[in-house]
Amino acid sequence: MKVKVIPVLEDNYMYLVIEEHTREAVAVDVAVPKRLLEIVGREGVSLTTVLTTHHHWDHARGNVELARLWPGLAVLGADERICALTRRLTHGEELRFGAIHVRCLLTPGHTSGHMSYFLWEDECPDPPALFSGDALSVAGCGPRLEGTAQQMYRSLAKTLGILPPETKVFCGHEHTLANLEFAQKVEPCNDHVRAKLSWAKRGVRAQVHRQGGPGRGPGGTLQRAGELRARGRTAAATGPGSPGTAVGAPEHPPTEVSPVWTRRGARWHIPPPPTLRQSGPCPGGCPALETSTLVLPGSGRVGLLSGPV
Ligand SMILES: [Zn+2]
Repeated sequence: MKVKVIPVLEDNYMYLVIEEHTREAVAVDVAVPKRLLEIVGREGVSLTTVLTTHHHWDHARGNVELARLWPGLAVLGADERICALTRRLTHGEELRFGAIHVRCLLTPGHTSGHMSYFLWEDECPDPPALFSGDALSVAGCGPRLEGTAQQMYRSLAKTLGILPPETKVFCGHEHTLANLEFAQKVEPCNDHVRAKLSWAKRGVRAQVHRQGGPGRGPGGTLQRAGELRARGRTAAATGPGSPGTAVGAPEHPPTEVSPVWTRRGARWHIPPPPTLRQSGPCPGGCPALETSTLVLPGSGRVGLLSGPV
């Protein structure tokens, strides 16, 4: 499985996932269709499907034009508000593109019809990949615009939090640096945040150096499409998107998906479920730790920033 990372708009990521045996390709969150088709042409792949995480303009606005330019395209998502939708997906549904499996995971909170996509490939040593849209980012998540806090907690902790820790996260926006700077304000004594922030700043400096000028967004996204194998460094981030109305939003609550993820008959290690813990006073005297802290097992290992490389 090859993932093309395509920075678009202010700080969005669009993705092209390529099944390298059949050369079939699936796009995720098409905001700029002509840019996508340039890369499809350059790669010589057959684009069959668009997976849209949610209906917001910066994730779905290119669907109509792409469907016009590319007849026969399947445009899939969980929310009827998504432009040019050809079929509405349900939670837990599995799709197949050659050797690539896609498990559809409804992750309401940012929007009520937000779907994340968990991908893995048969007979391939690469770790699985999660396309998380605005549900999950590096060191943050999209704002809760629709639904309840309980739904959002469930999406992050119960649906995404149980994925294999080696999962690589490809999210919808590059907000890594801003998220980590905010996290450090909230928890100035948190060593994980401090280390991750310095890693993110090193990444931005490296990108600025490569570009010969300042990056665009807080995470310093690159101007050109990059390419990542699922085993490589991963993109992630997230952003606010634009608020929508609840018209046509799915009403079905997510049901449990089996927490046992298997590949080639071998079980993946599943971390213990995340917990919402009330933190006690910080030993370093940090008053901010009196607030609740969402603990996502494995998140330290999953984290990654990076625009395209
Ligand atoms: Zn959004």
